Amino acid sequence: MTAIDGLKKGFKDFREREFQKNSAVWNGLVKNGQAPRIAIVACSDSRVDPAIMMNAEAGEIFVIRNVANLVPPHDEAGGYHGTSAALEFAVQHLKVEHIVVLGHAYCGGINSLFGPRKTGVEGHFFIPPWMSIAEPAHRRVAATMPDAPLAEQARACEKGAVLVSLENLMTFACIRKKVHERTLSLHGWYVDMGDGTLSCYNPESNQFEKEV
Ligand SMILES: [Zn+2]
Repeated sequence: MTAIDGLKKGFKDFREREFQKNSAVWNGLVKNGQAPRIAIVACSDSRVDPAIMMNAEAGEIFVIRNVANLVPPHDEAGGYHGTSAALEFAVQHLKVEHIVVLGHAYCGGINSLFGPRKTGVEGHFFIPPWMSIAEPAHRRVAATMPDAPLAEQARACEKGAVLVSLENLMTFACIRKKVHERTLSLHGWYVDMGDGTLSCYNPESNQFEKEV
């Protein structure tokens, strides 16, 4: 079976297991629409699918995935702001109560910040400008732990980039307003598939603390 055929078969199995056995749930989701209470910004990395890792049900989480789970700052200039549009939809229309920025270990996007910078050449048109969102985290790592092994710097940068994204979320007026009204909470999480742990950022200790 080819990889593509495997996916088609996967859908067939899913249909039998899910649509047919839980048809009332799916009919409700169609009739009433989606009403997720949580939006998650995750990396496109195939190893860190939030729905699989968090054991989420259909309709439970609104997932926004991009390279390195980054939130860009609010930008009114024209452009195809996919992540910002999805956030706006989640906050203004779905009225989610939580936004989780889910960082992860061994992130290829974050690792690219530690390699040679190539811009404007084939294969590197879009990644460097996008990854520049995480540049403040990279600079912080370079300034505070320049002698640490590269892997340690990369892990720190992955976590730092989550904090940059949390800061950038607050540059959106609609998000800032709801956070101040306490109808929306922001969370920074970090998953390490090397040791199978989830850590959550605690603003009071300024640390990612192991949850599980
Ligand atoms: Zn990643």
